[in-house]
Amino acid sequence: MAELPRVVILGSASVVPDEDHENSHMVLLGESGAIMIDCTGRPLSRLKKVGVSAHDLDALILTHFHPDHVGAVPNLLLSAWIIGRKRPLHIYGLHHCLQRLEDLMSFYHWENWSGFFPVVFHHLPQRESIPVLENADFTISASPVRHYVPTIGVRVECRTTNFVLGYSSDTIPCPETVRLAHRADLLIHEATGNEPLGHSSASQAGAIACEAEARRLGLIHYPVWEATADHLVAEAQSTFDGPVFLCEDYMEIPLRA
Ligand SMILES: [Zn+2]
Repeated sequence: MAELPRVVILGSASVVPDEDHENSHMVLLGESGAIMIDCTGRPLSRLKKVGVSAHDLDALILTHFHPDHVGAVPNLLLSAWIIGRKRPLHIYGLHHCLQRLEDLMSFYHWENWSGFFPVVFHHLPQRESIPVLENADFTISASPVRHYVPTIGVRVECRTTNFVLGYSSDTIPCPETVRLAHRADLLIHEATGNEPLGHSSASQAGAIACEAEARRLGLIHYPVWEATADHLVAEAQSTFDGPVFLCEDYMEIPLRA
């Protein structure tokens, strides 16, 4: 039995996944349940593989309305309904994202899905350090970061271990991420490559980890399509003194110092 609390990386690729890397998303596991961050690919089978049933998923936090982050929400809802989920599912995100998701679901006429479990949308205001949710394991907050569409990064404070996890989501290097990940035990930062309007390189991720005084850096959302990621850790180490690793699909990271 793996340690709790922990985060399991369900996908690590940037926008184009391959056979070994799904788009970036992850699940937080604690004694009190499972919270998924973003939802892409084939979410039910990936959750099942890491021991989470669709009946047990408590909440879904969506960082922004891009297909590589939210594209599989309709499938998650549909398959959870088909296998008989009854519990409500809480979905958290910015209004920009949740409104579009509701529009998308209305194209599927989900109001006609008979016996469909309740979905509760929690629209988060677009400001820094927004409280998202709290349970026995985690206190989770979010802050807007800087991407092509309104996007949030996520800060997870583990109540039982005092471990702090920061997750940048998709963003250029920005002070909001530095504050979000302030003195985090682990910052998971995207490393798509330098795109001045939307993304960060591995060395920029390192610089953000350094500025935030994070203890450790995990690189995620990196190119895998006809690309190699071998050089990324060294690149991040050029700007960050602490330990750096590459997030891989199904990697389990204990949230304990
Ligand atoms: Zn993305």
